[in-house]
Amino acid sequence: MATGDRARSAAARFAGIASAAAPAGPRTPLGRAVVLGGSIAGLMAARVLSEHAREVLIVERDDLDALNVSDARMAADPDAVGSRPGVPQSGQLHALLPAGQVQLGRWFPGFAEQAWAAGAVNPPRTAVRLHLNGRLNRTVPPEPGAEGTFASRAFLEALIRNRVLGLPNVRARHGRADGLLLHGDAVTGVRVRPDGGGAVADERADLVVDCTGRSSRINDWLEAYGYPRAPMRRIGIKLNYATARIPRPAGPDVWIATSVVTPGPGRTARLGFFTPIEHDRWSLLVAGYGDDRPGRDPADFLRRVRSLPPEFGAAVGDPGEVGEIATYHQADSRRRDFHLLDRFPARLLVAGDAVASLNPAYGHGMSAAMLHASCLSAYLRSGPDLTRPARSYFADVALVVDAAWQNSAMIDVALPHVDGPYPRGYRAAAWFSDRVVEAARRDPRINREVSLVSSLLAHPAALSRPSFLLRVLTA
Ligand SMILES: Cc1cc2nc3c(=O)[nH]c(=O)nc-3n(C[C@H](O)[C@H](O)[C@H](O)COP(=O)(O)OP(=O)(O)OC[C@H]3O[C@@H](n4cnc5c(N)ncnc54)[C@H](O)[C@@H]3O)c2cc1C
Repeated sequence: MATGDRARSAAARFAGIASAAAPAGPRTPLGRAVVLGGSIAGLMAARVLSEHAREVLIVERDDLDALNVSDARMAADPDAVGSRPGVPQSGQLHALLPAGQVQLGRWFPGFAEQAWAAGAVNPPRTAVRLHLNGRLNRTVPPEPGAEGTFASRAFLEALIRNRVLGLPNVRARHGRADGLLLHGDAVTGVRVRPDGGGAVADERADLVVDCTGRSSRINDWLEAYGYPRAPMRRIGIKLNYATARIPRPAGPDVWIATSVVTPGPGRTARLGFFTPIEHDRWSLLVAGYGDDRPGRDPADFLRRVRSLPPEFGAAVGDPGEVGEIATYHQADSRRRDFHLLDRFPARLLVAGDAVASLNPAYGHGMSAAMLHASCLSAYLRSGPDLTRPARSYFADVALVVDAAWQNSAMIDVALPHVDGPYPRGYRAAAWFSDRVVEAARRDPRINREVSLVSSLLAHPAALSRPSFLLRVLTA
């Protein structure tokens, strides 16, 4: 296929995955599907599987039944949901990109309205500020179907969990997945270690989806049966996050602000970001790379906040209200390329961070996990041969991973402490992406197309159309 045709085909396939349309095609009748991990990827996979399987079992090392809190209690009690040990990043600012907002509306009709009723925030879009390398950028109005749903990570997960565990054929089991069961070249179940000890039990399954996050042991489990490990690509970003929750006054002028400083001559890469969350609070983040480590000390946190554009300092009304500061270090952006394996068992899929966990500064993770669920739906609606590996699924997932990776890897490899691996054609691509950023400042159409790509509503291949290249070069 010629390069232009390949780009067009990638853009069109991605548009199908990111679509808001109700899934079409026959169902794949399954007796029992088992999902490993009950966080965003696992819950979304379970939602999709509930349309195909008689029974869906989520195996999760945290006790999901014990975390059960109704929407009404979440609306009434600011402390009803909190971080849980299985998701250590949960205390950090999490923003859901428009692609994720669309997918939530697709799989849970009315989700945004119900989330707002429970306390999630839909801020006025005119009150958004984006600073790039100290300059205020034009922001893009929301796309139809992408409903602003701002909340803490734990709150958003609880809303999704309520809807998934409320389905009649989905239930959770508390325990730790500890390996696969195989017969011939097909997975037949998983081994589960009950929490708190006890005998390891086998859970039989017609289909298994691994959603155990970036530390997934799927490669070890595959290797134990003589299968090759999925090749892993890593970029050692050494990202340091610190997030505080601060009371939010009624009707602020600015509701969402982002300050991104990219690596470059005379610039130290840094990130500042605040969004509204439930119960009249801000989630406020400062982040640095390498040795630039924001800590838990409120004085250091405030100093960093005040070095950002003025709306950041203004968001912190009374410095005494900066409560506990949560920190998190992420060593690398990583992806596991299952689509490159020539041997893989049938009836096994992988989704979410277990496939790719990239630089969180771009906010891809939860939306990518939701798009993986869309890939799962497309696979199960395609009348798949379950005696063979799910190659079309992994090809679609790779397309989603590429879309996020191309956004983030270009900036990751420009960090001074990172020495690759550089994408093919890196210098030319870096030169062109600087031109695109400049052109987007002047031309609203270019700005919108770039925004569709960075919000995972469109594939970066859409930006390689000759008409787009010409528009950028002449802007
Ligand atoms: C600092 C930081 C900030 C982020 N910010 C954003 C953001 O702004 N926007 C965004 O979209 N994304 C963000 N992300 C990414 C986001 O957190 C993840 O992409 C998202 O949670 C999807 O992950 P997941 O469900 O695949 O895995 P996880 O959320 O990591 O969940 C894995 C689940 O598997 C369970 N588990 C693990 N091992 C086992 C086992 N053996 N048996 C049973 N259960 C197991 C865990 O308990 C957990 O529930 C951020 C990530 C980090 C680190």
